[in-house]
Amino acid sequence: MSIQQEQVESRRTFAIISHPDAGKTTLTEKLLLLGGMIRSAGTVKGKKSGKFATSDWMEIEKQRGISVTSSVMQFSYRDHFINILDTPGHEDFSEDTYRTLTAVDSAVMVIDGTKGIEAQTLKLFKVCRMRGIPILTFINKLDREGKDPLELLEEIEEVLEIESYPATWPIGMGKAFQGTYDRFTKQVEVYRGNEESVFIPFDGKTVTKELEEHVRSEYIPGLIDEISLLEEAGNEFDLEKVKRGELTPVFFGSAIANFGVQSFFNSFLPLTLPPQPRHASKGEVSPLDDGFSGFIFKIQANMNPAHRDRIAFVRVCSGVFERGMTVTLPRTGRSMKLAQSHQFLASSRETVDKAFPGDIIGIYDSGNYQIGDTIIGGSETFEFDELPKFPPEMFRKVRVKNAMKHKHFEKGLTQLVQEGAVQLYKTPFFQDYILGAVGELQFQVFEHRMKGEYGVDLEFQYMNHHIARWIPKEQIQDRMLDSRVLHVLDRDGHSVLLFENDFVFRLFQDKYPDVTLTTSFEKK
Ligand code: GDP
Repeated sequence: MSIQQEQVESRRTFAIISHPDAGKTTLTEKLLLLGGMIRSAGTVKGKKSGKFATSDWMEIEKQRGISVTSSVMQFSYRDHFINILDTPGHEDFSEDTYRTLTAVDSAVMVIDGTKGIEAQTLKLFKVCRMRGIPILTFINKLDREGKDPLELLEEIEEVLEIESYPATWPIGMGKAFQGTYDRFTKQVEVYRGNEESVFIPFDGKTVTKELEEHVRSEYIPGLIDEISLLEEAGNEFDLEKVKRGELTPVFFGSAIANFGVQSFFNSFLPLTLPPQPRHASKGEVSPLDDGFSGFIFKIQANMNPAHRDRIAFVRVCSGVFERGMTVTLPRTGRSMKLAQSHQFLASSRETVDKAFPGDIIGIYDSGNYQIGDTIIGGSETFEFDELPKFPPEMFRKVRVKNAMKHKHFEKGLTQLVQEGAVQLYKTPFFQDYILGAVGELQFQVFEHRMKGEYGVDLEFQYMNHHIARWIPKEQIQDRMLDSRVLHVLDRDGHSVLLFENDFVFRLFQDKYPDVTLTTSFEKK
């Protein structure tokens, strides 16, 4: 195996997707602990403890104790290099959350066992599903009385429309939680509260003394029945399906008690994929190709308030990145030397000299880059496929408070829209500016940055619309439009209809069945 191949094979780049409070932060912490990256829990994110995590850079993040933009953590585990990309959620939810999922090779879906599938999990899951990447499920909070495990599996299959394969199976739950049975390793992991688990071999049938010592006897017959039920009636394990994202292996555990986390992660490595080829204008770009290439999935401003810098996050796709190398940006044809580059560790961002496919590097940006840009090291020139655009779900009219500042307003608007902070629309006649976002936070960050970086105070006007659909201009008729169906133009001048809600949207479809409505999200 070549060095490049070894480096690629040993890498795993993934994101954890979940609904807020399912336990993503707690699980991330435990994974970092496994990798020896942090000494004690509570260092990843301190939204509840008042401490601030290393990933909280911007001032607004500090004020709110949240992580505005997705951050990256790297650690090594069992001869592998692991990159975890954080995906902020809930009020922190933004297009960055979605875009981060375009830069990973697999995903871990954390589900709160007491609640089942929640709204945000579903949204993020859909993006992962569209990409066809492996998705592993961790059902959390088994130390609490939750939903029946079979019901949870059913919910996964029905709501998410993906096959499931329970890789581990819980024995009891809540106060009576005994542990889990691992169908891969044929061991019972015995739950002992905050103490380290004990592992005992079990073939699924034969009751040994050791098993009886550790698992309450009334749970054993049920366990044996359930294991045989899963074998007979459950889905068959199929690694190829896992790799294509058609079957999700399911693990049960308790992140807070650090139970089931290590067994989960040991299985994670063989079940997920190393960095994969990526499609570009010249065809597939393999991570083993010689020339360096990567794409920008996020641009973040002011990570260090002392320096007004912007950092472009690059996912390395092929070749080797070396600090100081010269790259070209096919979009503009310009070349630049990447002298300042960073890699993200759990505790700090450090200068990186070398990075391999799958790694995420941060490069200093003085305004050259846009979201989705390809950068290339060699003499070739190609561009990776465009990143999908995610249809916004909330809109605000925006104007500058002080008309004297209009020039600054225009400049800031252009810049921030280019960065992908928000989406911009205009009304065709009055040329009102309308901002679109997938999360409220995008507006707040926009407002904050317009003031901080461009000295512009804004006035927002709330809009009732929540659904955006693109429509061929020639199909628009005046009679289709009213206050609940608004015609606007996107940044490229394409026509978009904004609908107030799902009801209005469906009514419109019924009334005008011949109109072609698309989300750019599906257009991909
Ligand atoms: P996030 O919003 O998904 O990042 O969730 P957190 O990791 O911050 O966890 C949300 C809450 O659930 C916190 O109060 C955690 O202490 C708690 N929690 C996380 N994992 C578990 C678990 O396994 N069992 C129980 N009982 N609580 C948990």
